[in-house]
Amino acid sequence: MNDAVHQPDSVSVLLPGGAPGPFDYAKGGHDLKRGDIIQVPLGRREVLGVVWGPGTGEVGHNRLKAVSGVFPVPPLPPVLCDLVDWMAGYVLASRGSVLALCLRSGEALEPPKMRTIYRRGPLEPARMTPQRQRVLDTAADGLARSPAEWAEISGASVATVKGLIEAGALVGVEVPAFASHPCPDADHAGVALSPAQRGVADELIASLGEGFSTTLLDGVTGSGKTETYFEAVGEVLRRGGQALILLPEIALTHQFMERFEARFGCRPAEWHSDVKSSERSRTWRQVAEGTARVVVGARSALFLPYPDLRLIVVDEEHDNAFKQEEGVIYNARDMAVVRARMGEFPIVLASATPSLESWVNARQGRYRYLALPARFGVAVMPRVDLVDLRKERPPSGRFLSPPLEEAVEHALSRQEQSLLFLNRRGYAPLNICQTCGHRIECPNCSSWLVEHRFRLKLVCHHCGYERPKPQSCPQCGTPNAMASSGPGVERIAEEVAHLWPEARIAIASSDVLHGPKQTQDALERMAEGEIDILIGTQIVAKGHNFPNLTLVGVVDADLGLSGGDPRARERTFQLLHQVSGRAGRAEKPGRVLLQTHQPEDRLMQAIAAGDRDKFLALEAEDRERLGFPPYGRFAALILSGTDDALLEEYARTLAAAAPHAEGASVWGPAPALMARLRGRTRLRFLVKTTRNFRIQAFVAEWLAAAPPPSKVRLSVDVDPQSFI
Ligand code: ADP
Ligand code: ZN
Repeated sequence: MNDAVHQPDSVSVLLPGGAPGPFDYAKGGHDLKRGDIIQVPLGRREVLGVVWGPGTGEVGHNRLKAVSGVFPVPPLPPVLCDLVDWMAGYVLASRGSVLALCLRSGEALEPPKMRTIYRRGPLEPARMTPQRQRVLDTAADGLARSPAEWAEISGASVATVKGLIEAGALVGVEVPAFASHPCPDADHAGVALSPAQRGVADELIASLGEGFSTTLLDGVTGSGKTETYFEAVGEVLRRGGQALILLPEIALTHQFMERFEARFGCRPAEWHSDVKSSERSRTWRQVAEGTARVVVGARSALFLPYPDLRLIVVDEEHDNAFKQEEGVIYNARDMAVVRARMGEFPIVLASATPSLESWVNARQGRYRYLALPARFGVAVMPRVDLVDLRKERPPSGRFLSPPLEEAVEHALSRQEQSLLFLNRRGYAPLNICQTCGHRIECPNCSSWLVEHRFRLKLVCHHCGYERPKPQSCPQCGTPNAMASSGPGVERIAEEVAHLWPEARIAIASSDVLHGPKQTQDALERMAEGEIDILIGTQIVAKGHNFPNLTLVGVVDADLGLSGGDPRARERTFQLLHQVSGRAGRAEKPGRVLLQTHQPEDRLMQAIAAGDRDKFLALEAEDRERLGFPPYGRFAALILSGTDDALLEEYARTLAAAAPHAEGASVWGPAPALMARLRGRTRLRFLVKTTRNFRIQAFVAEWLAAAPPPSKVRLSVDVDPQSFI
């Protein structure tokens, strides 16, 4: 064993992925520093790694393998490496698996692909034709173009251009195959901000370059939050830095890109799983080189190698979609705050319905609080009325109550648009036998199969299992006894088509059949006024601007309130508030009708009264009394497996191994809310601690004392958002 801690000739190298490490490698003559992206031998393979620091000396130097090569890209910035280290400790994942989030684009590491374009050369062609002359006349501008571009601009054929190339009259130049991201122009087309907006924008701008700060930008939908944080982004551009805007959902990026382009003259770099991989490579590289100046993307955009990031905006900060629930389980909003702290720059969390956490942080002075209380221009907040479904019953087999039906009728008569909101895909959430009461369940999960009429299938929304709808009851065999129970958006669409056969209707849901593209189309047609009644799931709740939409009807406001999820109420409030905010965003005043069975509930009352802060204050009180986040901390452990006996045995072992500590309690094992998922049985432990308790150390110690057998999968979710 070597005793030196810092081996001058070796480095420790972290490998992206599940492997432990870092491992020591000899430098092999390379000049290396932390963050350098290198290739190293591992067993018989060559793999990608990142220099993590000096060698530890834990392996004798004579036995070290050497680094085989260094990729010609800028190193990962030191703060990104620090973030990987920090985050791995926080979310209890291996450092390699967190590092993998930063290296999502293998191609980006190769030298950039080149292509050849042509400009005027020194030679005159031996034979001149009018066509050739046209090309050469155009070439007098000295610019280089591809053969196709030459042909297009001069009106000659590609063959003519090629002839000139052969004759040496046009000569080739090698350029990178991908163009650089153009730099957005801060002064392209700003709007004249209202005094309140100006105040907020100025404060955001003032925070730039002043170190780390977190600002909660709280403003109703349509108040101009985007307009104001664009001012701060513009200022970052003027000063030569990079900015990142995180959005919760890919479906939102499209409209956002256009809006960004209108403001800054070109599109920002876009980063999410729907962007094609060559484009992602280009973006990764240009971010690393500092030439991509603004990135708009989903949570993984946080892990790009920005050398000069100076501002992060997390829009719709309350949104659950910032939580990654698979693989490395992390909350991109929270990690973005950490990234900003490490990079010593400001971060802005924007929302019309801030998460309770952020709201409490702002109340307690940990976050700066900036508010935009009013809608921009003449638009006012819609009036919200509750429809008591116990009194105003829809006709049998239907779901729209008389007041809601009347309101839609009224909107139609004025040629205004309506949105009927129901957060449930498909036709019916459940099929029940009219004779024996049997319900059709997923064979792999604890959930009912959802009926999809368009596809004539019953589908599991958790695992994707599907089957045809049976003619007779699978249990008692009675023919034609299976009845659809409850509504999904397709069923509401059916009712609407029946009530208003003349109306132009569309469904917007993230459904398998319709896909993101068609949903996008529906949203665009809605924005352009080509739809009278849009029936949608939560996909329509966010971000979109429909100027002629004056009525929002919430078919089932109670949906989402049942179940044991401590955040269910907060989330329901946010969703109802957001969807209500879709109404009346332009000159025409909006109206919202919420159908509910519990109009006296304080949540419904708060929505109707438009009193968000009262609702949050009461929720915060409840959480404080119970010691729930943000007044305490949670970590969930989910054990799953296919061998129930083994699973239960391990759960008992784990329960017995739980450490005892003041300030921490362990609940469980209990069946998870989804007690079966994708064919696996699931058990859950919940660790609850006081606010300043080191919950990671507690869980790590616990798991070290009772590691899972190989047939049991264990995942740890620190600060869980969802409780399935
Ligand atoms: P939020 O992000 O709070 O929902 P937006 O920034 O999207 O609000 O603004 C809502 C709408 O009002 C957008 O169409 C936006 O262009 C417009 N708007 C906001 N502020 C102004 C302004 N000062 N001048 C012109 N239009 C504005
Ligand atoms: Zn299933």
